[in-house]
Amino acid sequence: MTPSSFAKPKVRIITTGGTIASVNGKPMIDGPALVGALPELGNLADIQVEEFSKIGSSKMTPALWLKLSKRINRLFDEDEQLSSVVITHGTDTLEETAYFLNLTVRSPKPVIVVGAMRSANEISADGPANLINAVRVGLESKAVGSGVMVVLNERISAAREVWKTHNRGVDTFQSESSFLGVVDPDKVRFYRSTFYTHTADTPFRIEKLDQLPKVELVMDFTDFDPAIIDYFASKGLEGLVAGSFAGGRISAGMAEGLKRAADNGLPICIASQVPEGRIIGYPAYDFPVVFAPDLSPKKARILLMLSLQLTNDPKQLQTNFEQF
Ligand code: ASP
Repeated sequence: MTPSSFAKPKVRIITTGGTIASVNGKPMIDGPALVGALPELGNLADIQVEEFSKIGSSKMTPALWLKLSKRINRLFDEDEQLSSVVITHGTDTLEETAYFLNLTVRSPKPVIVVGAMRSANEISADGPANLINAVRVGLESKAVGSGVMVVLNERISAAREVWKTHNRGVDTFQSESSFLGVVDPDKVRFYRSTFYTHTADTPFRIEKLDQLPKVELVMDFTDFDPAIIDYFASKGLEGLVAGSFAGGRISAGMAEGLKRAADNGLPICIASQVPEGRIIGYPAYDFPVVFAPDLSPKKARILLMLSLQLTNDPKQLQTNFEQF
């Protein structure tokens, strides 16, 4: 056996802030301190840590997503020995960042996004266990090729399927059509994989981008005022996502506003505000529109931003919403 046979797997932890790095609700723990507080991690892997940012995730932006994804791609390109990357992140926009990475990281190696619901100073803080579990998941052979995953509360979710459901509970992250797996104390167990195209198999290349097209999201509600769409459309938008009622249905005001915008050439996507189930038998509207059958409106916005780099052909956009 060569000496390298005994080497521990290399894992990079990139810290961005959020409650997992917070004291009294403020993200103030720097990356090395966050990781240094968990010497157990050293038994699992050769851990390297870098601080990317120290922000609440409500401050996350598309420009930061691009920077983070490029950083991860560079790390995998530069170090063949690197086994996985773990990102610590606030939970408010964690599902958005995870889905963006799921579409833009170019490696099949595991990327895990992890957060916490309780600050480090709170009784029963969940951050330490979540971080250890995230590293454990990344070391599991079945995690390779599984796309970007989210680990909290001993559950593994696919980035495409996960959403935050509770304002405070540690079981806040739920997953459409069940979790990918669990992180038991003795073993990481995968139950299934995800079959949507992700990471290295997507066509989205971001290396040369510093910003993404401006795409806004407007939620429908009873008696929606079409002037809301007119306002957004006047702001130099490149795409618009409408968060519809169940089944892709929309109010008369939303239909009126979307028609005006679409007739002026704005690409429109409709995604349901209702978290579970798919939009089937897309409703017919008298303007061009694509449907995100089973993505949340926030994730549909991300996919539209990336897709518009490549095309604004409605047929191709529709294919993307069914594939990624
Ligand atoms: N404020 C936090 C954030 O950065 C919430 C959390 O991390 O749970 O999203």
